[in-house]
Amino acid sequence: MPRVYNFSAGPGTLPEEVLLRAADEMLDWHGSGQSVMEMSHRGKAFISIAEDAETDLRKLLSIPDGYHVLFLQGGASLQFEMIPMNLIRGRAVADYINTGEWAKKAINAAKGLADVNVAASGEDRSFTYVPAPSTWQLTEHAAYLHYTSNETIGGVEFGWIPDVVDVPLVSDMSSNLLSRPLNVGRFGLIYAGAQKNIGPAGLALVIIREDLIGLGEPTPPAMLDYATHAKARSMYNTPPTYAVYIAGLVFQWLLENGGLEATEQRNIAKAKLLYDFIDNSDFYVNPVEKADRSRMNVAFRLASSDLDADFLAEAAKHDLVELKGHRSVGGMRASLYNAMPIEGVQALVDYMAEFAATKG
Ligand code: PMP
Repeated sequence: MPRVYNFSAGPGTLPEEVLLRAADEMLDWHGSGQSVMEMSHRGKAFISIAEDAETDLRKLLSIPDGYHVLFLQGGASLQFEMIPMNLIRGRAVADYINTGEWAKKAINAAKGLADVNVAASGEDRSFTYVPAPSTWQLTEHAAYLHYTSNETIGGVEFGWIPDVVDVPLVSDMSSNLLSRPLNVGRFGLIYAGAQKNIGPAGLALVIIREDLIGLGEPTPPAMLDYATHAKARSMYNTPPTYAVYIAGLVFQWLLENGGLEATEQRNIAKAKLLYDFIDNSDFYVNPVEKADRSRMNVAFRLASSDLDADFLAEAAKHDLVELKGHRSVGGMRASLYNAMPIEGVQALVDYMAEFAATKG
């Protein structure tokens, strides 16, 4: 059976080269006579896999000295809680920017653990834009400023990094980390669930500035303390070994394909193809402010929601799958992660044109 074009928001499509390589190495990794899945996480072979993955990630993102890379579990959702537990550091308030469903989840999780100030919110316009920084009501000496760099559900993305003075910047980059170059040095902490641009579910990446580690008050339980994982180099307990291995293959694939500069150019071209098509059609609509449109997750509606089921069923017959929008917002959503080739986006646009011509 041919592979489909999978527009899922996550777990999402992975590079075919990576899957083929993993298949090839499934029974015998580099002459070890074992699958990576069967290896001790403390053995030489796996330690080299984890070290290579970290080295390649550091290369891709040009991570400066003074930052730890942690390979954790619990998804991005556990980070919603670990962040306030570790970073409040006795300060009164943590600032959050509310740009949609994922920011709201981060805010609600933090509320149980800290005083939260929602410094700006896009809820007044149904989360279709990023509020301008001039309107943000920031707290002086806040413990940190948290924002969601890409709202996977609403399709709203920060195309820029907020300016902060003396306040650690914290970002949930679950759905756009590795989609473009990034100045890591501007951040106190970056985190991401792996299951979009990084690798399989089960792994969460945290990049944290050294001076922010070990300051939780009271000291969090060991598994929830960044200090534990930094000290043990993510081997305090058994890490998600196979997910780390696949993530490492994805990092290699990105490096072999021009790094993040070239990746960004491919992502710009893919997003432009789909947004231009939507903007030129009377049948499809994307409600997001143009400057804040996500390159990764394109949300759109048909002229009538009565046609949604038909649209999805016909799409599947064209091998275009997982186009249904998130249950909280409805409509459609096409996720265009790094591993989605432009041919997949072209196939989607061709199908959308055909559907509009017959049903519009
Ligand atoms: N933040 C964002 C932006 C997400 O897209 C997601 C998952 N789709 C999460 C957080 C939650 O991630 P996890 O399921 O890994 O906890």
